[in-house]
Amino acid sequence: MYKYLFGPVPSRRLGMSLGVDLVPNKICTLDCVYCEVGKTSKLTSDRKEYIECSKVIKELNHYLLNNPSPNCITLTGSEEPTLNSKIGEIIKLIKQQHIGLPVAVITNGTLLNDPKVRTELKDVDIVLPSLDAATKGIFEAINKPHSQINIEHHISGLIEFSKYFNGKLCLEVMVLPGYNNHHKELLELKRLLIK
Ligand code: SF4
Repeated sequence: MYKYLFGPVPSRRLGMSLGVDLVPNKICTLDCVYCEVGKTSKLTSDRKEYIECSKVIKELNHYLLNNPSPNCITLTGSEEPTLNSKIGEIIKLIKQQHIGLPVAVITNGTLLNDPKVRTELKDVDIVLPSLDAATKGIFEAINKPHSQINIEHHISGLIEFSKYFNGKLCLEVMVLPGYNNHHKELLELKRLLIK
């Protein structure tokens, strides 16, 4: 059937959401201990057209022509969607060809430090990034990042994006017993969130 689409699935925040995979399983900038998909097979921060933009748009157009419209198109999957260097073009084409259909991006947020990625996501309706730690040791223990990714860049990317983005931003924090559920880390996270 469809190779890059999944669902639509009901989502509390997004309604009936049609998922779109932009990167093959399982390429990610992180290797989180809680990842439902399993271990990251390729840990990288290199952006590429991992799945061709034209193939994604072709499938999406076919789906939307032959099925009831979902409430939202969600760029996500079992990996990090912003690793696809054509995400900006894909968003632009969805917005041009399906006017009024909201687009969401579920991202771990680690590439938002790159101004190009922030620009590419600017026309999205909802961005749902993650932040599980406020400090280096906890970030490394929970999220096991690629060597080019660090907590300072992760946090500054989120802060810059929150200043620049006009859509809805929903930050997700995974609280993990034994990792980040102690008073000091939670207070530091709170301090960052209200910054
Ligand atoms: S960022 Fe998401 S896909 Fe990547 S390892 Fe963490 S939970 Fe899994």
